[in-house]
Amino acid sequence: MTPNPKKMKVTEEHEEIVPITIDNYINGVFVKPHSNEYIPVLNPTNGATIAHVAVSNNTDVETAVASAQAAFSAWSALTIKARAAILMQFHSLVRQHAQELAQLIVQENGKNITEALADVAKGNETVEYACSLPQLAAGRVLPVSSGHVVCHDRRKPLGVVVSIVPFNFPFMVPCWTLPIALVMGNTFILKPSEKVPMTMHRVTELLQQAGVPPGVVTMLQTNKPEVIQSLIQHPMVQAVTFVGSSPIAKTVASKCRALHKRCTALGGAKNHLVALTDTCHLESTATDIVVSFAGCAGQRCMAASVLLLIGENKSQDLLDLIVKKAAAIQPGTDPGQMGPVIDQRSYQKIQKYIQEATEQCGATLLLDGRTWNQPGGGQWIGPTIVLHQSCNDAMMKEEVFGPCLSVYKCASWEEAIRIENANPFGNAACVYTANGGHAEWFLERFRASMLGCNIGIPVPREPFSFGGLYGTLSKYGDMDITGDGGMEFFSNRIKVTTRWPAVEDVPTTTTTTTHDMAHFSGRM
Ligand code: NAD
Repeated sequence: MTPNPKKMKVTEEHEEIVPITIDNYINGVFVKPHSNEYIPVLNPTNGATIAHVAVSNNTDVETAVASAQAAFSAWSALTIKARAAILMQFHSLVRQHAQELAQLIVQENGKNITEALADVAKGNETVEYACSLPQLAAGRVLPVSSGHVVCHDRRKPLGVVVSIVPFNFPFMVPCWTLPIALVMGNTFILKPSEKVPMTMHRVTELLQQAGVPPGVVTMLQTNKPEVIQSLIQHPMVQAVTFVGSSPIAKTVASKCRALHKRCTALGGAKNHLVALTDTCHLESTATDIVVSFAGCAGQRCMAASVLLLIGENKSQDLLDLIVKKAAAIQPGTDPGQMGPVIDQRSYQKIQKYIQEATEQCGATLLLDGRTWNQPGGGQWIGPTIVLHQSCNDAMMKEEVFGPCLSVYKCASWEEAIRIENANPFGNAACVYTANGGHAEWFLERFRASMLGCNIGIPVPREPFSFGGLYGTLSKYGDMDITGDGGMEFFSNRIKVTTRWPAVEDVPTTTTTTTHDMAHFSGRM
């Protein structure tokens, strides 16, 4: 058993955290990296070191891929039902250990406990979906021509596949791919985020306990871009999924394309909410908007980032409600509270956007979350609301990835759509109104692929696939990542065309047997 970070009593009053060591998980065992190098993992709430994570090099990549390749033949030879049965055990273990996993998420990511439990539950939904794949992945059969010519397809796994994941959902995002890839018969290498490696480190033990054989799942820890690149480019790696920031998503997808590897790479986001204040329900709209931009400290690719207000009479009322509700949020990791952002780099980036908008662009600060800052005590920044004069401010256009809402008052529906369509991302968008026709007008025109009506985090759950709009900064590569898209991504369809000899063609010299070849008689 890998211990979780433990509190050690130093004196009667003082307890100290004993950091754990996160090694690679290769061929069913934890192994040290060849470099023998580790970097600290920090608790974002207080900056304490809670773990040391391995920094793997290219030799570790070779070992990891070789072990995954060696495990492929036996794993892919199991029936899909047998593989799904193992994942059912895993699903049940995740439920049993949900509290423990959520506590790890709170420690390494800084989410509040309710959000951390939701991270676990939502990740386990994809496991549940993967358990149903034996029912969904059956091939098609069709007579296609006279003369007994029949086509059928068989799904074949790809081989060794790789997933590279970000820090913001330590369990859910790895589970977008891991269960589907496994049930479809692939062996799987995860490159967890070096900022939050503890949760999935513990999950390896649950996978082992569920019966996943050695080599079928590998965790390769590193923060070195060149090592991750050599993993992606390894000739035995057949497909890659990436979730993270746009520039890296683009690089990963370009590398894969050049090598003719299947790849889906999800990037960053800048999600727009449009409130038609004359027809939306003000109270519930205000609550939903606050949950959307401030939940998980704004570190969700689905988080609201820009609010476009339309309506002469009630826009100010809605804005006042939003500010009031956001101002009531307290810092902390208990239910209903808001946690810190992940690290100093992120904190400084958020601060820069607020400063630039208010000091250089003439924007008005309606709520200033920088008052939460406690020097030396983690990266705390509260909900922040900025009212912009210009939709060209950097904060209106670039990904901030913090608990910030940029508000802009539009003169018309057309102006709102122009602003939303012009943004280079294409992840999510939402309209608030009680009028179905008005909602349709916007849903038809948004330039994003995950749309909401009166729901600010419009996450498509299984079997609907997750992912931004191809051709924007939110999405590179092919296909979608979860649900039906995941089943397609992690398998090849082999088409088989058969023509069996008709009965009259059977040589007459052959003795025709009449007894029950399946030996079912008398047993049913
Ligand atoms: P990041 O891009 O910094 O890191 C993501 C992963 O890529 C990490 O595991 C990291 O170690 C690895 N990495 C770093 N350099 C690499 C390289 N050169 N080649 C390959 N891999 C490399 O992202 P982050 O800060 O961990 O996460 C936040 C970002 O993720 C935000 O931009 C957010 O919008 C995005 N995100 C997107 C989605 C989505 O579905 N579109 C979901 C979650 C998060």
